[in-house]
Amino acid sequence: MSDPLWSDRSTWLRGDDLKAYRVTSSGLCWWCQSAPATTREHKFKRTDLDQMWGDSKYLLWGSSGDDRTIWDSEGFGRLSQIRGPKSDVARFKPSMCLTCNGKRSQSFDESYVTFSRHVWQHMDRLWKAGYFDMSKIYGNEWQSRVLEVARYFAKHCACSMVDAGFEVPQSVIKFLDGETSRLEDMHFVIFKDPQIRRYRRRMKEIGVAAGGLHIEPAAGAVSKSRKCLTGYSCAYLLGFIGVKYYWREGARASDSFYLHQKPRIYRREELPPI
Ligand SMILES: [Zn+2]
Repeated sequence: MSDPLWSDRSTWLRGDDLKAYRVTSSGLCWWCQSAPATTREHKFKRTDLDQMWGDSKYLLWGSSGDDRTIWDSEGFGRLSQIRGPKSDVARFKPSMCLTCNGKRSQSFDESYVTFSRHVWQHMDRLWKAGYFDMSKIYGNEWQSRVLEVARYFAKHCACSMVDAGFEVPQSVIKFLDGETSRLEDMHFVIFKDPQIRRYRRRMKEIGVAAGGLHIEPAAGAVSKSRKCLTGYSCAYLLGFIGVKYYWREGARASDSFYLHQKPRIYRREELPPI
């Protein structure tokens, strides 16, 4: 299999180990590269936060190392409270202009919200399912709508890269522009995480509704000779269902979920640890 995700042997770095490879921000929106970057994309989508809110006064946020998690629960001494979706921990630094983060990406957001609603509603059933049936979520339009979901995740990944101090690959920009409907050097896979599921169940036993939004710590692969980033990996989870995104410079023909009507749901341990 030519898929870069499965055959990658590179060394991945995290946090300060990537410092030497960061670039200085131009202050412009990374997508149009012309208007000032004035708006902040949500790390955790506002609709996901809203649906977790329910009757709670606040959500709880915690991190271990670079791990970022939001739980709709109480009773964790070391976690901090989030009192609104505009909280700093829920958003990336400003990196997009108003038009790109609004009108230009509105259809991506809408298709993502439909996807996310389905995941929240059917989470327990999805645990047992081996795949998603996109036509059940989007009907006859599944192909174009799932492509928009992929563009939502590509935008999320781009914001995460800029937030971490890196440039957005041109391929991502072309994908978002609609110049291509296949982002060859970025792989997106859907997975389920048994560890998070176990945690949710354990918390439930002691009366804590640990619904949970989770972002896996981002990691980068680098070229020491060219002094630049050559790979980037992260994951976004709704409860225990996640999408992993994985960019690899020069990779071809990634077999991502949006190419399939019934994309497989991998178990987390089937994917590389990073
Ligand atoms: Zn823009």
